[in-house]
Amino acid sequence: MRVSHLYAPTLRETPADAEVVSHQLMLRAGMIRKVAPGIYNYLPLAWRVLRKVSQIIREEMDAKGGQELMMPIAQPAELWQETGRWDVYGDEMFRLKDRHGRDFCLGPTHEEMITTLVRQDVRSYRQLPIMLYQIQDKFRDEIRPRFGLMRGREFIMKDLYSFDRDDEGLNKSYWDMHDAYSRIFTRCGLTYRAVEADSGAIGGSGSHEFMVLANSGEDDVCFCDECNYGANTERAEMHPIEATKEPMKELEIVNTPNCKTMEEVAEFLGFKPEHAIKALAFYSDKGPILALVRGDHEVNEIKLKNKLDCLFLNMADATVINDLMGSAGGYLGPIGISKETIVVADNTVMNMCNTECGANKLDHHYINVNPGRDFKPNIVADIRLIRKGDPCPRCGAPVDIKRGIEVGHIFKLQTKYSAKLNTIFVDENGEEKPMVMGCYGIGVGRTMAASIEQNNDKDGIIWPVAIAPYHVIIVPVSIADEAQRTIAEKMYKELNAAGLETVLDDRDDRAGVKFKDADLIGYPLRITIGPKALKENKVECRVRKTGEVHLIDVDTYLSDVQALFKQL
Ligand code: ATP
Ligand code: MG
Repeated sequence: MRVSHLYAPTLRETPADAEVVSHQLMLRAGMIRKVAPGIYNYLPLAWRVLRKVSQIIREEMDAKGGQELMMPIAQPAELWQETGRWDVYGDEMFRLKDRHGRDFCLGPTHEEMITTLVRQDVRSYRQLPIMLYQIQDKFRDEIRPRFGLMRGREFIMKDLYSFDRDDEGLNKSYWDMHDAYSRIFTRCGLTYRAVEADSGAIGGSGSHEFMVLANSGEDDVCFCDECNYGANTERAEMHPIEATKEPMKELEIVNTPNCKTMEEVAEFLGFKPEHAIKALAFYSDKGPILALVRGDHEVNEIKLKNKLDCLFLNMADATVINDLMGSAGGYLGPIGISKETIVVADNTVMNMCNTECGANKLDHHYINVNPGRDFKPNIVADIRLIRKGDPCPRCGAPVDIKRGIEVGHIFKLQTKYSAKLNTIFVDENGEEKPMVMGCYGIGVGRTMAASIEQNNDKDGIIWPVAIAPYHVIIVPVSIADEAQRTIAEKMYKELNAAGLETVLDDRDDRAGVKFKDADLIGYPLRITIGPKALKENKVECRVRKTGEVHLIDVDTYLSDVQALFKQL
């Protein structure tokens, strides 16, 4: 490819609406252009990277026995009505009607589609296991599309579905995919961690997320360096903390004027926040919820939602607090709360004694509260959000918390879809059973974005070789110079013939402009042909990642460049 004809319109300025570095650099490097929020054109350089990421994924899926197919994006509503998800999927599902008025959606995922496909054609245990995948556009009408390709509405996903005879088979498929994902992200040059993930309403322990560590990540991930435990903080378990027991004192109500926050009450009454109970009000499809945690702890809303098996759970507003809970905002507490309110206490709360909490009455709190004696929660469970320094749930060492970008998610579905959709097989004893399924997704565009988040500097992108759009750029300082041009053309031909994907910057532009573009786009190697070195029959080869410059001889340049390339 000659740069004069390469469709990569680079920008000097950082576009104002791009918040994260991958979005900024993809726009500046002329890789993507926005069409509508969360919807992008992938220009040729981006498409080359996306194809390379896809190819790595394809090779690793095939190596585990995956078979690639392609399913439609337009999906009839009937498929989703069979599992009941048409009604519960919510606004992320983009719905449309055809000319006959029939309901369709643009596939946000393909469990229904694949499970009904397999149900038509697979009947015997002899045909199992089977793993099917596609690399294709998904559409999710995300509420907050942002960060460029990181959270789009139309985005490319690889989704694989496994069908097995039993749990043992599913386990094998699951860990094969775990292994394949590890290989994929390693090959893409990413620093990542596989962590335990929330498996939502489906339950079970079978879910891992592959997290690329980067500050721009939207997830919090906790790690233990002692025992290698890793989990999304949404999911991380917490053991109850024991409290020192003392004789129970008599419950008392006290006046706490204008003390709404935990800090204000604590200061006013002279205790530490960890001595008191913090109460938070939510509203859900199960009704009003009062969640109780220790004063210095936070509620993990995902755990709370899973525990209650809610469809939705939102912070309660003043009307819910006043009318449904019979309380006063800022003075929430379990004692005397309305009967309709479901009180959920964190395990640790039940170990506290002679503690404090709101009295559901303006300017009043209770002191000497003893859970169990003074109130009985409807549910006691682990609903606490893990923090940096909290004990690891496995070994007790303090955990660290970092931001992560979820690039992949693997999931044991078991028979959730196959049972509902009647996708059954006949086993060796002639018995009919639902197939045992898993599903496994990778965001292809998000993986590309994550790679840029981890590999960039002030000048631009630094691609890992495996997914770089091209390997080498040749920059003649002056294309008008015959000697430079002749050598540039020769190298361009020979390098491409040798299998190095090479572009030639044949523009009649200042060298500085060409260097800036080369750094911005992030070609791993740059060969500069300039008058000074050429006098000594030499050219410069610069490594984008390290900035190292090697003076190499024009006569031996090919083997020298190949050697440098191998070291990348
Ligand atoms: P998130 O929590 O980020 O919304 P998810 O749990 O909805 O992700 P899955 O349904 O498991 O994601 O999808 C599989 C993969 O697809 C994710 O791991 C991610 O890499 C990618 N992905 C999901 N949503 C988007 C999106 N809006 N834009 C780009 N990639 C996405
Ligand atoms: Mg999502």
